[in-house]
Amino acid sequence: MTSTSDRPRDECGVFAVYGHPNAALLTYYGLFALQHRGQESAGIVTANGPDSGFKRHADMGLVSQVFSAPVLEQLTGDRAIGHVRYSTTGSSNLANAQPLMVNCSRGQLAIGHNGNLTNASLLRDELEQRGSIFQTTVDSEIIVHLLAQPSHQGGILSALRQVEGAFSLVLMDERGIVGVRDPFGFRPLALGKLEGAWVLSSETCALDLIHAEFVREIEPGEVIIIDENGPRSEFPFPKTKRAFCIFEFVYFARPDSVLENVNVHRARVEMGRELARLHPVEADVVVPVPDSGNYAALGFAEELGISYNHAFVRNHYIGRTFLQPTQLIRDFNVRVKLNLIKDAVRGKRVVVVDDSIVRGTTARARVVNLREAGAKEVHMRVSCPPHRFACHYGIDFPDPAKLIANQYTMEEIRDYLGADSIGYLDVDGMVRATGLDINSFCLACFTGNHPVAFDPELDKFIMERRRNRAGHLLTDEDQHPSLFDSVS
Ligand code: SF4
Repeated sequence: MTSTSDRPRDECGVFAVYGHPNAALLTYYGLFALQHRGQESAGIVTANGPDSGFKRHADMGLVSQVFSAPVLEQLTGDRAIGHVRYSTTGSSNLANAQPLMVNCSRGQLAIGHNGNLTNASLLRDELEQRGSIFQTTVDSEIIVHLLAQPSHQGGILSALRQVEGAFSLVLMDERGIVGVRDPFGFRPLALGKLEGAWVLSSETCALDLIHAEFVREIEPGEVIIIDENGPRSEFPFPKTKRAFCIFEFVYFARPDSVLENVNVHRARVEMGRELARLHPVEADVVVPVPDSGNYAALGFAEELGISYNHAFVRNHYIGRTFLQPTQLIRDFNVRVKLNLIKDAVRGKRVVVVDDSIVRGTTARARVVNLREAGAKEVHMRVSCPPHRFACHYGIDFPDPAKLIANQYTMEEIRDYLGADSIGYLDVDGMVRATGLDINSFCLACFTGNHPVAFDPELDKFIMERRRNRAGHLLTDEDQHPSLFDSVS
């Protein structure tokens, strides 16, 4: 088992509050709004100033499962950091749930991390040789050990300068909270304000939920330190090119969030319009694969003047259930999530729009659904370019050898899916849809140009994660192995 899903996985979400009597409750709400970024575990650490002692609760599961009212009441204090996790390094178990918390010579420290360190194994080896004993298998713990090293008594900035790769962090020490965004700015991090309290969040949608004012995004390379004197910023990293993950716009972020000062919903609708101009088709109805394809499909339909209809109906109550494989019902795991309104497509020329195709198994099942429902033609349109390369910056794609676009020509993909035609958006159109400069982005999973050199030893972490998760979660791929599994 080298992959666990036909969808790329969100990485993690971080949230923090400083200076509010209900810091834990606000963080709980914040994590709730960030749940789409990670569903394996959730955690909150709170404190109430120097010498108050940190309080932590973390567990496996969704935010609503991990926290109850009594648990939140125990998490007292006017400052908190929180984390939702989907494991991109390290296995899926409770020890790896974040925020991580340690006692060290500089007192108590807690950390929540979104991203992947690209020099993780190198740093870990060095730290272990110097006597560090790791409690988890997550790369985030490396940052904790660096911070705890006596050689970094000068502060967190010199410790942070050693780590490379993608990291949006929230930290808490006994004085306050700290937000950090790596110099490339791979992952988002926003600053908000609420009744004199300060808030940090992976996405602005979480600020909206708690009625916090969106102040600004944390700059790439910025370290924002928030304590009793308010926020102040440091820029300890050498300046480098920006490399914001464009896939946040395509798929990961919530449509109601603002990234790089651009509304995600607007960018997705524009991607649909760009796609329609690049691959127009005569059709009767445009159907999104919900929820991720909704906005691109809307833009596609508007651009070509074709009617738009939600023919696929999502079951919102599945969550991450431990569905058992069944031979009884073909495509059960695909159908249980999305069912089709047959009347909406019967006898029609249908364009089905999704945000991405990774391995192709789920897309293929959708086309089969549409054919069985009596669609006259099925045209597949994808609102980002073909995925051909690995992501080393915190997004969990399958092994590149399993990426359908890495293995097959467009014609072969179309034939595998069983579609009448297929069309992907190109890189220029995807970038244009955001209204931002192409040099602002990481595009590595589409182009193969990775902005930060990758430590191949990180594969050890990734392989371990996959091995562990294979025994932990049953997914589409577990139950419906790709046809390509047998030939690649
Ligand atoms: S490789 Fe792709 S998914 Fe990973 S950070 Fe770059 S754009 Fe995002």
